[in-house]
Amino acid sequence: MNKPVIFFDLDETLIHYDDDRRVLVRPGAQAALEKLAKVGDLQVFTAAHPLYAKMVLRESALAPYFSQVFSVMDFAWYGRSAGLCVIVDDGATLDMKIPYLGKDYKVVFVEPFMGQDSVAPLTRYVAEIKAAISSR
Ligand SMILES: [Mg+2]
Repeated sequence: MNKPVIFFDLDETLIHYDDDRRVLVRPGAQAALEKLAKVGDLQVFTAAHPLYAKMVLRESALAPYFSQVFSVMDFAWYGRSAGLCVIVDDGATLDMKIPYLGKDYKVVFVEPFMGQDSVAPLTRYVAEIKAAISSR
């Protein structure tokens, strides 16, 4: 059986793109993605433009963790309905994505990352994400 899909929002979940055009990576992102790659197929689902998303993932060195990068534009265009299990999101653009998520999804909300060192690291959510997968 295929691994369950774990969708990650990009902006303010995995990275913050600041006013100086720097890509800041959320603390604990690499460590969390290493762990979650063992239990799920990691994909990015963003409300941002897909070319922006791919550029940011390259610059942040997070690209290798993800098998696919989707934007809401891709989903609208291709009409894809994912057999999704979990989406990890800071919540700001979740409403734009929900119509494409099918009916079998769970949301794990993360604190928005605006570049602050004090943000909850992504590793803090690993247990919750794993629990959401196993409760499908
Ligand atoms: Mg976001």
